[in-house]
Amino acid sequence: MSPWCSRPLRPLLLLSLSLGWGAGAGANPWPGVERPSIGPARVIGAPANGCLAGAEVLPGAGPGYLSVRRWRGRYYGHPRLLALIEALGRAQQARDERLVLVGDLSQPRGGRMSGGHRSHQHGLDVDLWLTLAASPADARALLDEGDPPSLVSDDRVNRHWGEDARFLIEWAARRPEVDRLFVNPAIKRTLCDATGGADWLRKVRPWWGHDAHTHVRLACPEDSPACEPQSPIPAGPGCGAELDWWFSAEARRPGSGRRAAEPTPPAACARLLHAP
Ligand SMILES: [Zn+2]
Repeated sequence: MSPWCSRPLRPLLLLSLSLGWGAGAGANPWPGVERPSIGPARVIGAPANGCLAGAEVLPGAGPGYLSVRRWRGRYYGHPRLLALIEALGRAQQARDERLVLVGDLSQPRGGRMSGGHRSHQHGLDVDLWLTLAASPADARALLDEGDPPSLVSDDRVNRHWGEDARFLIEWAARRPEVDRLFVNPAIKRTLCDATGGADWLRKVRPWWGHDAHTHVRLACPEDSPACEPQSPIPAGPGCGAELDWWFSAEARRPGSGRRAAEPTPPAACARLLHAP
């Protein structure tokens, strides 16, 4: 997410919102949507091709957490996601007075973003920075300089890794409503070594990047029959050959993280764009 977090993009984003995000072929209408639809929260489609009806707003701050970079307008989610963030804040509050920094959720009706993420489209994804802030002022200082620090250098965790990041990852992985979360392969390897391959590591999935933040994804809620579940995670903690692959020459080859073409959004999402 880092290339899209820098401040110079802000005027561009605001301009695009005020112009309704262009009218040309391939224009993406979702970032221009200003408010959630009316009615109950319903997740539609998949994380990287979906939308969200009846989204709720994550408050700017709550016990133990702070929602940051609000100008991006990506603080909408399914109520279950908001409840998870609030529970995490309370869990952090029980540790000490510092704050969890909550990054992007979804846009008011979800959908594709103008940049920064391919997923986060259906209100069940949230990014959590792996560095805690001592106060809102400390959070501002941390984010004014760019992104909070990476916890990984040369395929190993560095001096920024520690109990705080482990707390965030383990807490989320142990929650039953969490489907999976993404961390840098070096972070997963460190957790595998530290725990001897604990069961909760199954949900902790290695992925490129994710060295300063983790991305937490909830499972489809029962209230949303149009939510498409992801393919199941393989059994076991995923600490063996599966993890080793990420450090192989094949994984490092340019293009191994290449992404598929843009999918066609579900029809229900096209309708949601124009719903009241
Ligand atoms: Zn994310």
